[in-house]
Amino acid sequence: MLASKPLIIRVAIPSPLRRSFDYLVPDSFAESPPQRGCRVRVPFGKREVVGLVIESTDSSDFALEKLKPISAIIDRQPLLPESLFKLFIWAANYYQHPIGDALFSTLPVLLRSGSELPEIQIANWRATTLGKGLGPDSLKRSPRQRALMDDLLAESLIREDLLLETHSRAALKQLREKDLIELVMQKPEPVALNNLLREQPLKLHESQQKAMDAIEYHGFKSFLLDGVTGSGKTEIYLQGIEKVLRYGRQALILIPEISLTPQTEKRFRDRFNVPLVTLNSGLTDKARLDAWARAKSGEAQIILGTRSAIFTPLKDPGLIILDEEHDQSYKQQEGFRYSARDLAVIRAKQENIPIILGSATPSLESLNNCNQQRYQHLVLDTRAGKAVQPSWALVDLKAETLECGIGRSTLAAIRETISNKQQVLVFLNRRGFAPTLLCHQCGWVAECRSCDARLTVHRGRGRLICHHCNYQQRTVHQCPSCQGRELIAAGEGTERSEAWLQESFPDTPVLRVDRDSTRNKGAMQKVFDTANSGEPCILVGTQMLAKGHHFANITLVVVLDADSGLFSADFRSHERMGQLLVQVAGRSGRGSAAGKVIVQTHQPQHPLLQLLINEGYSQYAKLLLDQRQLTQLPPYNQMAIIRAESNNPNSAEMFLRAARNLAETISPPSPDLGYLGPLPALMEKRAGRFRYILQLSGQRRGDLQGLLSALCPQLERLPEARQVRWSIDVDPQEL
Ligand code: ADP
Ligand code: ZN
Ligand code: ZN
Repeated sequence: MLASKPLIIRVAIPSPLRRSFDYLVPDSFAESPPQRGCRVRVPFGKREVVGLVIESTDSSDFALEKLKPISAIIDRQPLLPESLFKLFIWAANYYQHPIGDALFSTLPVLLRSGSELPEIQIANWRATTLGKGLGPDSLKRSPRQRALMDDLLAESLIREDLLLETHSRAALKQLREKDLIELVMQKPEPVALNNLLREQPLKLHESQQKAMDAIEYHGFKSFLLDGVTGSGKTEIYLQGIEKVLRYGRQALILIPEISLTPQTEKRFRDRFNVPLVTLNSGLTDKARLDAWARAKSGEAQIILGTRSAIFTPLKDPGLIILDEEHDQSYKQQEGFRYSARDLAVIRAKQENIPIILGSATPSLESLNNCNQQRYQHLVLDTRAGKAVQPSWALVDLKAETLECGIGRSTLAAIRETISNKQQVLVFLNRRGFAPTLLCHQCGWVAECRSCDARLTVHRGRGRLICHHCNYQQRTVHQCPSCQGRELIAAGEGTERSEAWLQESFPDTPVLRVDRDSTRNKGAMQKVFDTANSGEPCILVGTQMLAKGHHFANITLVVVLDADSGLFSADFRSHERMGQLLVQVAGRSGRGSAAGKVIVQTHQPQHPLLQLLINEGYSQYAKLLLDQRQLTQLPPYNQMAIIRAESNNPNSAEMFLRAARNLAETISPPSPDLGYLGPLPALMEKRAGRFRYILQLSGQRRGDLQGLLSALCPQLERLPEARQVRWSIDVDPQEL
């Protein structure tokens, strides 16, 4: 008799190694072996770790007697649906990232460590018999409890999450302690179709209707919803979601990594009566697992999240929406360097459902995809309601008297807006008080020891801080070089603008919004409350303020310094500058009063600035696309960067030299495949490490992918690799 074949499983393990690991399934588990997508416990080195089964097989490249048996099976049902599993495999291949790390770095922490997937139960509340007998005059002295009781007496059962929208958890607890109400756990049931909506949809205006009619809900298709700020893109998202909810399917909505979640969430909750979960970086481990499990079970019908939410398992997806598709936060810049935007399109394809990418300033990649007929281009070119597009004015800084970076005429415009009882937004993409501290006598400049960068003066905290490695020291009042005492904080950051504006407008609230000012939780809420009150105020901030917010009474937006975006070595800098200016301008005049945008620059005649403000973003983007085509840069070719960094000045460069030699033996340079470098990174020294890049570009995605796949395992074995940290960045967003 033949010996039966061994049962071997290939397991993904959270490890930096670009391979999977084979294990034996011992006879004791042979009755019901683990399926693909299930977690198992396996010995790994001296430890036991949680791994995920990729496939079952009966042969291994390793000798059978060397294979270790698995120790336990955690899941009986696959943790990840097959379509999502395929997305991970696609992404690990495409981004040249170890599959184990790709899977585990995106799973909820509790699942990584082996916790059970919780069973989904819905918490509901109802009045007890005692509660039902409650007289109308009781609870008089506790109006909150009374209000909650009234709601519960009016209906037989109310879902806890709905109750908590209008009532406090404390009131629930108090009533429960009095035995007036009780908790009922239930298996989730889909919301009745006639009860999906809590408020009626808006009547679409003409171009919205046209866009809406163009969107198809059966099968895969990508739509670029290219709508000026305030044109009503969100209303289209809402009505698109309604469609798929009516088919009983789920909608996944991705938004950028910004402070917007609460307001966006509110708009969705206000419209729909269905279970909604949010996935963002602020969640506790338990809350994240819960949201993940609810999405997977199909109980949650709307899933709203930032970048990594693209990896949320869904039972029956019907639509993916990705708002502000041009936003850089969709690209993960370290570890597993994926683009959630690009993966969203791949996922939609694998799930065979539509995807809507929305933006007022679409990325050149997406515009090119429209030109290539890969996406359908839907344009909304007017603002919804009464609002009109703001008007632009350039202020020539060469001809202005400046104080703290603000020109006289700009200050006058701010004054006029305030006296008209309207609000002002002042934009400056530099936090801190001043970007430089220098000695008036000898010219010494405070620099970071570990980076090629200057220290930023933070006056409020009395510190000098490096914005690249977060090195901090107490501020100095004497020059360490000449002992002179005349130290000058040169240039402007938001902290300085805030101080100067407050001094100039002592009776008007001036609120700063940047990563420093919003570190404590209530700060952002205070800004929203003040801005939403409609009272005159001045908001000063970085790009945190530029995105997405809807404040109806802002009628003047001031861009303090447009010049930094005009001159940068990164080939995407003009694209980013245009997007940022248009987005920040889009905060102006969203209500009934007309808006204005003042842009301060030393280059008022710069052709790009002129094009942007006279012809608008789409013409601007067209020109940039033409330039990219001429210079053969993305999206007209494919790019990947190999980065390396080392503690000593030479190792990174030497590693990349060796990498280039290897690569050229695999694919010699040709008109279709080019190499550039090794070159020092734009900031060569950062956090004490020396950084180099090797740039690879190819006419065809397949060629570049083939090269990288062949190259990667060889790089791991290079002796030079031991001295450096290296990584591959496919479709890099930053040089
Ligand atoms: P966007 O997402 O494109 O920036 P929003 O969806 O936030 O635009 O819409 C801007 C404003 O216009 C919101 O206050 C919204 O309620 C309103 N709005 C959108 N569509 C309509 C419509 N069809 N009729 C009336 N008001 C609308
Ligand atoms: Zn530094
Ligand atoms: Zn000095």
